[in-house]
Amino acid sequence: MDRSFPLIDLHRHLDGNVRLGTILELGERHGVPLPGSTTESLRPHVQVTGVMPDLPSWLAKLHWMTAVLGDPDACRRIARENVEDAKGEGLDYVELRFSPYFMAKPHGLDPAAVVAAVVAGVEEGRSSSGMKVNLIGILSRTHGVEACTTELEALLTCRERIVALDLAGDEKAWPAELFTPHFKRGRDAGWAVTVHAGEADGAPSIWSAIRNLGATRIGHGIRAVDDPALIDHLRSGRIGLEVNLTSNVQTHSVRSMREHPMKRLLAEGLLATINTDDPVISGIDLNHEYRVAAPAAGLTPEEIRTAQRNAVEIAFITSGERQSLLAAARQRSG
Ligand SMILES: [Zn+2]
Repeated sequence: MDRSFPLIDLHRHLDGNVRLGTILELGERHGVPLPGSTTESLRPHVQVTGVMPDLPSWLAKLHWMTAVLGDPDACRRIARENVEDAKGEGLDYVELRFSPYFMAKPHGLDPAAVVAAVVAGVEEGRSSSGMKVNLIGILSRTHGVEACTTELEALLTCRERIVALDLAGDEKAWPAELFTPHFKRGRDAGWAVTVHAGEADGAPSIWSAIRNLGATRIGHGIRAVDDPALIDHLRSGRIGLEVNLTSNVQTHSVRSMREHPMKRLLAEGLLATINTDDPVISGIDLNHEYRVAAPAAGLTPEEIRTAQRNAVEIAFITSGERQSLLAAARQRSG
């Protein structure tokens, strides 16, 4: 990692990144019985602590982070803490994403109230920490097309506080093309588009995200390595990939860190980046991904620098913001 470049996380789920202490406090406040009463006894239930047998057991870790969201104030708190934690980690810029429907569901909250609370929490975190942050709204495809319409409408109530629309969840059972009208509305609202694709499913899922939803960035996208025509398309279209190394190993999207395709994606000249996905669940932070995971995936210091530079290029920010991030990092390193 080169500190003369900005340190940026472009793929981080705020609803997959809740402090253990906060889960305990919110659980108590909202009468949610938890599987542990201390951070250490709770940890194995919300964090990956060993090799996970399969994807469902990984996804089960997400349960407690939203189970304790008993009111909009709880949503506001976790949003604020995410911004503060990004600052504490030494990040220069972060894009936080969230699924209002997924957060609202356990306690039957109004998804629009969740969106307003998250926006307010991010604003509080921004003003207390000075962190540069943007929000990405997620449609959770696993809940179905209609639920995604409700979710989209909730996100549109804060249209100007959100920079992009994402599609997450089970990409095999719910292909991107089912959500074409949702993303047309999102683009018409002025949002950029990034889509989870090519993680659990193959290259055709990435093609569909680009052709049907207008994605200009892909969440994960690691299966692009299987399709030379797609590699050419991503390169010439400057479509960036938000790669999450540790997450990919933990969810069995790749067999081992050593076999991770990140090195090949970079060698192909793609705008691949290094991100965290769900830091608390994975038990990592961005520094770990740069210092431990990237070398374990075989990346050289030069390739790691390239990934860092790619993040500046594909971030959902203006060219003026890009220049000021670069200038601030250069100044820091003297
Ligand atoms: Zn993700």
